[in-house]
Amino acid sequence: MVKTFLVTGGAGFIGSAVVRELIQHTSHRVVNVDKLTYAGNLESVAPVADDARYRFIQADICDAPAMAAAFAEHQPDVVMHLAAESHVDRSIDGPAAFVETNLVGTYVLLEAARAYWRGLLEADPERARDFRFHHISTDEVYGDLEGPEGLFTESTPYAPSSPYSASKAGSDHLVRAWQRTYGLPTLVTNCSNNYGPYHFPEKLIPLMILNALAGKPLPVYGDGGQIRDWLYVEDHARALIQVATGGAVGETYNIGGHNEKTNLEVVETLCDLLQELRPPAADGHYRDLITFVQDRPGHDRRYAIDAGKIERELGWVPRETFESGLRKTVAWYLQNQDWWQRVLDGSYQGERLGVGV
Ligand code: NAD
Repeated sequence: MVKTFLVTGGAGFIGSAVVRELIQHTSHRVVNVDKLTYAGNLESVAPVADDARYRFIQADICDAPAMAAAFAEHQPDVVMHLAAESHVDRSIDGPAAFVETNLVGTYVLLEAARAYWRGLLEADPERARDFRFHHISTDEVYGDLEGPEGLFTESTPYAPSSPYSASKAGSDHLVRAWQRTYGLPTLVTNCSNNYGPYHFPEKLIPLMILNALAGKPLPVYGDGGQIRDWLYVEDHARALIQVATGGAVGETYNIGGHNEKTNLEVVETLCDLLQELRPPAADGHYRDLITFVQDRPGHDRRYAIDAGKIERELGWVPRETFESGLRKTVAWYLQNQDWWQRVLDGSYQGERLGVGV
């Protein structure tokens, strides 16, 4: 059955992958609701923006009348909530926006969804029964793991370290409370670090690729020994759509790639891939650009996900290994200089209203 998906944050890194996946590989309709902060880039949905099944609304999820209007006009079957402030370093410098969007915004969206769903219960109980509110979150809500053993499961207690992860943890609690208290049919997913095409160049992997290409230093926090579990963004997008359409109401699913790497290993692998695919003009190796810089406060040491539940219950498995996904990512940045050049020089923000509105 063709459904209407209301995707918040669909101009962001993961949201745009979800939007592209839905339009390119399913017959569903998509309404993309995005405020277009610095992290929102409509050029990331340009490949699907002209499709008749795609709509874009520029709106803030904290704006209750705008959210009510979006629900009333588009009558969604599924909400996939990805809009968030998402960068840990920014949350340390300025936590207010994280509290506002991640907590207040999630509350406003939940209330808009609840009012709409209650209307459905009276008007169309079958559609109300099938309605889903899927909240997309992070493994950072679990804090960090001591030593090399152990994995985050869906029952690991929350222990967030940064203003970012604390605001995401709070939003997860709100979503679960709206399910327990009001019966809103919700789902939560917590995923490990994503990487892939269309990733904003402030995050580790694209930052390192672009710095290396420019011959700039590759800054690695502390000793580079922090361990993250990496997942290719398109594998995450497919997992999210599987959960939104097939997950059990009230459940949480952890999503991860079984790819635990230290930050230093990631940077060294990127250097080696670039050395092969785009050797530097002068003699030398990209690895020579690696420099160690002072660690960030509260930096979690290790995250690692047990994705067994989503694999067992929904049959999801990632298609990419770390090696194949990273190779695709480096190749994408080499082939799509226009996209990242326009992010670096700020011109991606100038044409916001020109695409897909
Ligand atoms: P992103 O920063 O690339 O994109 C966020 C999007 O939300 C942007 O398009 C931005 O314009 C929009 N947005 C921000 N505030 C808004 C508001 N008030 N109203 C409407 N739109 C707003 O983030 P991302 O990396 O794509 O992450 C998406 C979600 O997935 C987030 O909730 C994040 O916590 C979660 N997540 C991210 C990762 C990761 O590795 N990037 C891993 C696990 C979970």
